Amino acid sequence: MTATTARVLAGPPAAAALLAETAARARRLPTPPHLALVRLGEDPASMSYVRGKDRKAREVGLRSTVYALPETTSQDELLALIARLNADDGVNGLLVQLPLPAHVDEEAVLHAIDPRKDVDGFHPANVGALWAGRPTLTPCTPAGVMALLAHYGLPVAGQRAVIVGRSHIVGRPMAALLLNADATVTVAHSRTRDLAAVTREADLLIAAVGRAHLLTPDMVKPGATVVDVGINRVSGGPEGKTSLTGDVHPDVAAVAGALTPVPGGVGPMTIAQLLANTVTAAERQQAEG
Ligand code: NAP
Repeated sequence: MTATTARVLAGPPAAAALLAETAARARRLPTPPHLALVRLGEDPASMSYVRGKDRKAREVGLRSTVYALPETTSQDELLALIARLNADDGVNGLLVQLPLPAHVDEEAVLHAIDPRKDVDGFHPANVGALWAGRPTLTPCTPAGVMALLAHYGLPVAGQRAVIVGRSHIVGRPMAALLLNADATVTVAHSRTRDLAAVTREADLLIAAVGRAHLLTPDMVKPGATVVDVGINRVSGGPEGKTSLTGDVHPDVAAVAGALTPVPGGVGPMTIAQLLANTVTAAERQQAEG
């Protein structure tokens, strides 16, 4: 057994604070911000994510409408619904749950969403604004990580940050957000040579890979803040049950200064940030008149 030394950066209290602030902002608007959630098919994970987003939205006083379309919905039919929701002034935020069935071109769908309503922050106009350091709607998981760091008062400016993973959903926008917050940023990936030498440089290490326990104690600088975005389903529990684990080995707790748990770390921040983005979209639309 390794003695646990790292401060635990629990997600639920940070998410609760962000949700409370989001609810207060929503109450200051003349009408409750309205989030439209679109999903196709019956993928259990997608159904569960959309249910969770819908429920939390209502809990914080937002309006939420779920559009559950059959798996066989054509791309044109989906684009027609998006066009209708884009044109509807009563809808402030619009999210299409990914992944989409193979017959639908994900990029075409994401590009069709009005950037002002793009609460997932995946539209190229929002991606560009993020990299230009302009105010924008920002992908929820990395924005949630920033909110978590802020909640626990952890410094970002001037820190050496290393992100492992360069996906469009997590790694890349995480890099932009940290850069915008004045960190010195390195992005590592599957082609990085001597990953351990790179990660050991980090004061702030973000793991967004999707490989259970990839980051081991020898890869972490003593005292570093480690944020584990990874969610990996592993078997080996009692009666062959699966459990969730992160990209960071549990023994890292003996080396790191602070560490997010999995589950119960970054996960709860993602939905909270989605609702914060919905309120931001509504505030901006109201200001534009
Ligand atoms: P992804 O699209 O599969 O990207 C994984 C990244 O990791 C890629 O950039 C890949 O490099 C890199 N990588 C793979 N193996 C590596 C290795 N051995 N060494 C260094 N880099 C390696 O995954 P994602 O969507 O970003 O998600 C990452 C993880 O976060 C997953 O576990 C996912 O479930 C989790 N996640 C959690 C939340 C949440 O709410 N907490 C939200 C989103 C995702 P290449 O680019 O070179 O292939």
